[in-house]
Amino acid sequence: MLDRIRIVLIGTSHPGNIGGAARAMRNMGLGDLALVAPRCEPHDQEAYSRASGANSLVEGAQVYDTLEAAVGDCTLVVGASARSRHLPWPLVAPRALAETLPQTLTPPQSRVALVFGREDTGLTNAELQRCHRHVHIPTNPEFSSLNLAAAVQVLAYECRQAFLAAETAPSTTDATPFGVEWDNPPATHADLERLFAHLESTLTTLEFHDPDNPRQLMARLRRLFLRAHLDSMELNILRGILGTIDKRLRASAATQAIDGETPPSRT
Ligand code: SAH
Repeated sequence: MLDRIRIVLIGTSHPGNIGGAARAMRNMGLGDLALVAPRCEPHDQEAYSRASGANSLVEGAQVYDTLEAAVGDCTLVVGASARSRHLPWPLVAPRALAETLPQTLTPPQSRVALVFGREDTGLTNAELQRCHRHVHIPTNPEFSSLNLAAAVQVLAYECRQAFLAAETAPSTTDATPFGVEWDNPPATHADLERLFAHLESTLTTLEFHDPDNPRQLMARLRRLFLRAHLDSMELNILRGILGTIDKRLRASAATQAIDGETPPSRT
């Protein structure tokens, strides 16, 4: 199951951190490294010297332009950040998160992404809002930010310990995340992003949402639906409801246009 955990590094600027992350991953038995718009040459010599034997991970790292592309097939996306946010995002500690992963990864379609930010500015609010959860490594509050590769090491270690514990006590991993064998596979990140785009478009047409004055509406709706952990059937139902609303809106707009063309009756 550790092979279905992807480490995603966004906008990394030091090749040594890519190598350091690769080494930390390989030490803990993780092998799926994705880089989003790196701001350095990932195959720089410094990356390989810090990888120190985990070269295959650096060589095999997939490079993407966007976070959405890097995690599109993932069913749980967790953003690592040292900072709390103005709009709080569901927060989890590394150990508590890792302990849930054997169950999360029980459905064979499930895949988890752990997303890490830039060395200088971390994750943006928009990036964290694309994640189901925010994981915070409890550090000294007066000096809370770890080196990027060190942060990867801490989370990779917790994942490994949780999987070793699950192997020795397999009964705890029998259930799926909702405590019972589920009837539909979890929705993927790409499906969720399509739902959010559809929701925004319909709410804009309804004039419930004003893109020029958004007031965090879409961020709050994202938080609601990501917290609910939709399965693929639930997501399709929501898309169907939105599609029906769209159809009604188009029909009523067409009726209004015809009415508008009818010359007013004279009395
Ligand atoms: N200066 C940045 C932090 C950069 S550290 C900021 O203000 O956010 C690089 C990355 O390592 C972060 O984006 C985060 O993904 C991870 N990281 C560092 N310290 C962390 C912590 N205490 N908890 C969770 N992730 C952390």
